[in-house]
Amino acid sequence: MTFATLGLIEPLLRALETLGYQTPTPVQAQAIPAVLAGRDLMAAAQTGTGKTAGFALPMLQRLTMEGPKVASNCVRALVLVPTRELAEQVHASIREYGEHVPLSTYAVYGGVSINPQMMKLRKGIDLLVATPGRLLDLYRQNAVKFNQLETLVLDEADRMLDLGFAEELRDIYAALPKKRQTLLFSATFSDDIRLLAGQMLNDPLSIEVSPRNVAAATVKQWIVTVDKKRKPELFIHLMKRLKWKQTLVFAKTRNGVDALVERLQGLGINADGIHGDKPQATRQRALDRFKANEVQILVATDVAARGLDIDDLPTVVNFDLPIVAEDYVHRIGRTGRAGQTGEAISLVCADEVQLLSAIEVLTRQTLKRQEESGFEPDHRVPETNASGEVLKKPKKPKKPKVSGGKRTLGKWMDSGDTPTENVAPAVKPVRKVPAFNTGPRKRKP
Ligand code: AMP
Repeated sequence: MTFATLGLIEPLLRALETLGYQTPTPVQAQAIPAVLAGRDLMAAAQTGTGKTAGFALPMLQRLTMEGPKVASNCVRALVLVPTRELAEQVHASIREYGEHVPLSTYAVYGGVSINPQMMKLRKGIDLLVATPGRLLDLYRQNAVKFNQLETLVLDEADRMLDLGFAEELRDIYAALPKKRQTLLFSATFSDDIRLLAGQMLNDPLSIEVSPRNVAAATVKQWIVTVDKKRKPELFIHLMKRLKWKQTLVFAKTRNGVDALVERLQGLGINADGIHGDKPQATRQRALDRFKANEVQILVATDVAARGLDIDDLPTVVNFDLPIVAEDYVHRIGRTGRAGQTGEAISLVCADEVQLLSAIEVLTRQTLKRQEESGFEPDHRVPETNASGEVLKKPKKPKKPKVSGGKRTLGKWMDSGDTPTENVAPAVKPVRKVPAFNTGPRKRKP
């Protein structure tokens, strides 16, 4: 199968040739003909599957071949994304794919001045990429109008709900013309996503693409068990012993990012960090330097790393396991792309056993374990497996005996006798996704 057999026009094929895309990925093979035919789409696909080209190519083609010229302040196609990094990345891809078609494209997001965006929208934009919060601000100030809107894309819809954009999505939805094409992409399909899909989509074609980086063995994954306080030391030890080159490291919190970066820099290691507290320009600069190989170790939180598109990244390290299991898949999707091999190493402490279990259930695999000599944990990480069982009791820290008092139980310990009764349900929802209509706003990119 080629892109030409999918029915794409010559200017788009020419752009793909320049980019070196030869064969459509599975999501592209399914999405392109359906979108060209005007169908709605509900696709289970995440970063790394080629989904961006899957929706962008047929949209660019339809915008080129059909419909009126764009009017002032109007947009003909809208791609909603959860973060500014993803907005930049998706827009950059769209510009590459649309290099030879006469369409205007642009990206708007929060955290930067709104005025230049208002100016730019005056002439109208054929295809606009936007984060929900900023788009709504622009809409409320009459800087953008939706009466010409033909196609709406919700990219990483699960993440938009996770970040608390349900209310914005509802308000945007209310402002859109009822007759339009809608494409929804999501890594996961929770009840809330299905509710959203039910409201927004019309007889959609469902596409499911297995997460390539998990299903295919292009990413070698393993965990190293360690005590929490020794993680920084272990990281530095492994970095040296395994000669990690360009490495993307995920930490749970902003403070965690800063602390690790500081420690690495203190050792003369070329490291930088990105998280939500840093201004957009600083984040972009760190990212650009990392992409250009001027920074060896980039430490990031999940939100900040969301839109990262780095080809050929050899190593991803989970300094902390993600709170949401799906983020593990997103994180390791940064390596092993486009047929390259990569490795994803997670440093896991006893506190994280539930998170580990949830990841193993989600990815249907038991992650290979290693202990690093000299870093064997005092607090053992209980054995886990892909069916969600946590098999062994962790060693309880010694406590002074309290006579007559109620026993205080560990986080995942219960007073049952058998090992499996000793655990709380291994895969419990670790973060409540706000309902489409009611979710509180947590964060605004
Ligand atoms: P995405 O899932 O859209 O983030 O794309 C993941 C990566 O795959 C990006 O770096 C794309 O440039 C690349 N890519 C997408 N489609 C193809 C293709 N058909 N052939 C080769 N690379 C591709």
